[in-house]
Order: sequence, then structure tokens, then C-alpha cells
Amino acid sequence: MDFLDKFKYHKDDPSEFGIDLKEFKKKTSELDNSHLSNLLTNSVRVDREILPKVGKAIDVVFKRIKIENVFNFFITPDNNQANASCSLMSSASRPDIILTSRLIELLSLEELQFVIGHEVAHYIYQHALYPNFNNVDDRNLKLNILNLSRAAEISADRIGFLSCANLEDSLRANFKLASGLSDKYFNFKPSTYLDQLRDLEDLGKSSHELWSTHPSFLIRMQSLIWFSMTKEYHEFFDKKVKGTYDLKEIDKKLDLKIKKITGDELEKSNTDIYERALIWGSLNIYLSDKKFTKIEQEEFAKRFGEKSKKAISLLKVSNARDILDQKIDESFNDAAKLLKTDKNKLVEELKLVGKETGGDKMKKLKILGKLLNILGIKKPVNF
Ligand SMILES: [Zn+2]
Repeated sequence: MDFLDKFKYHKDDPSEFGIDLKEFKKKTSELDNSHLSNLLTNSVRVDREILPKVGKAIDVVFKRIKIENVFNFFITPDNNQANASCSLMSSASRPDIILTSRLIELLSLEELQFVIGHEVAHYIYQHALYPNFNNVDDRNLKLNILNLSRAAEISADRIGFLSCANLEDSLRANFKLASGLSDKYFNFKPSTYLDQLRDLEDLGKSSHELWSTHPSFLIRMQSLIWFSMTKEYHEFFDKKVKGTYDLKEIDKKLDLKIKKITGDELEKSNTDIYERALIWGSLNIYLSDKKFTKIEQEEFAKRFGEKSKKAISLLKVSNARDILDQKIDESFNDAAKLLKTDKNKLVEELKLVGKETGGDKMKKLKILGKLLNILGIKKPVNF
């Protein structure tokens, strides 16, 4: 199944949150049978004799994406909600995919293939192991997790697309799920929705999008249109035409589009946390010999500009050390919740500060070791 990894949207990266999916894959977890018995009691299991059309759609999906069908499929009565879910534990258990009756009624069998493929992708990519934003109090971490959650949907949509192998069906499925409308009510014109996306873009930012677990259907449709132009997509089906873009380029285009819609609040907040930790951590390193000479102060001011003034003036109060320790504690505890890339970058910058300042190297390394410890980075440090 790893051959599907290359289709992942690059922001769909749980290692940024310290999650190693390979570790999870090794562990065999126990099957939760209470869940299965609940489904068997209240839902219809998809049987090819009773539900030949749905059964066929399922078979087509697995044939197209070339993986084994290890899933239980159920249909649950729900006349209001057209949705699907994949309930799963680790990859060791047998996953269930639950489709609502309304979903089956609303979608064509091709559109249904898109949704089935999307749910299968959640399992393949082990999205259920991602952190849950509901279990987190920290605002910045919550927003980073939501960002990951939306990225996971983009990845799943790509596998949905490969599963139905048709752009229009993929877009129609998205449109129907967003609007709840069936075929008889709409003329399908993707360009109209791209106009709507542009209007949303013009508004600057949507806090609704920022706080949402799923991307707006407009972004999802745009993402699929771009995906259909990639070399990777065309190669998957051995098509004669080559794609216009690499998936990497599409991911970048998508990053920009998403940033326009969600705004830069999260980026700013991540940067603030990063910079606070950097300045207090650096000051700590400068003070490793308990001195802060005039020359060091000038260096520090040059390195951090305006922001250094507050830090330098802090050192003039009588309980400066206590306040500094508190600042370090706060700022590094916040930074511990940043993405792995940011944390590694912070460590590199602090190492550079360590290298370029005077004083005893061992003392500086000891301080750096403590800071890394708060960040949750457990590796030896040197510069
Ligand atoms: Zn999903």
C-alpha cells in the first residue's frame, strides 16, 4: 500500500507532530468486537447478492487502486446526512466503512467510487492515528492539528479520484456532498465554483476555514482539478498524455490557495512562538557565564534588532534571573508544541548562537541540552 504514499498532499505529514506511522504499523492491536457487533445489529452489511450495484462499485475501487479489500462495508439508515465514515483502529484490525443510505441515494455509482476510495485512503494513510484537536487546549496546537486534518482530506480526495478515475465524477461527488442536491436540481459547471472560490479568496480570510476539520468543498474541487493535471496521476493509469505539472508543483499552488482562504493567523502565531523561544533561549546562552558584557549586548542587539531591547532592559531589574527563567519556561513549553520542522530549525539557530558567543563551551552545551529537553528533543547536542 506504500505505493500510494506518493499521492499524499505534502502538508499531510504526521511526523511533524512526532507520530511515526511505521511504529504503529508494527504493533498488533486488539480488535474491538463491540463496535462490530453494534454495526451488525443496526446496519446492513454490503452483500453482493442483496446490493449488487454497491458491491460492484466497491470491487471497481479496489481493482483500480490495486489493493486488497480487507474492509467490512455497512449501510446505515440515515435519510438526512449523505456521508461516509471509516471507523478504524491500527492497520492490524479489520476496518469498517459505513455509508449512509442517503449517500447511496444521492450519488451515482461512479461518484460513490470516489467516496469509497476517499474512505479507504483514510485507512491506508492511517489518519485515525493523527492527534485529535478536541483533546488539546493549546490554541496554536489546535490550529496546527486542524491544518493537518484538512491536509489529510486533500490526500484522501486524491485516492478517491484514482478510485473513480474521472474528474467530473469526483467533482460532482464533492458538489453533491456539499450542497446535498441531487442531479435533477443542478447543471454542473465547475467554472462557476471556481468563481465562488475566487470570491472567497477576495474576502481575504475565512476564520471558518481556519477552525474547520475539512477544507471547503471549493478548495477540494480546485485541488482535484490540479491533481488531474499531474504527471503522477497520468502515470498511475499509464495514460499516453503526460501531465503538465509535478505533484510537488501542485502542492505548492495548493499551499498558496489555502493560505489565501485561511489567512495567515496560524503562520503568524507559529512564528511568534518560535521567535519568543529563540530570543529567550539565546539570552540564556549569552548568560552562560553569568555575564552580559557591553560587546555581547551589542551583538545581541544586532542579532535580534528591536526585539532585543525588551530582553536587555529586563536584565536591569533586581529579580532578572527569576523572570528570565520564567520566560524561558513559558516560551519553550509553547515551542514544544510547534511542528517538528520548526523545532529543528530553532535548535539549529540556538546552536549557531552557542557557537558564535564567547564563554565556556560546556556550560553553553548544558544550557542547550536543557532547552532541547523542554522541546522534547532527545538527542545529544553539539556545535
Ligand atoms: Zn474524509
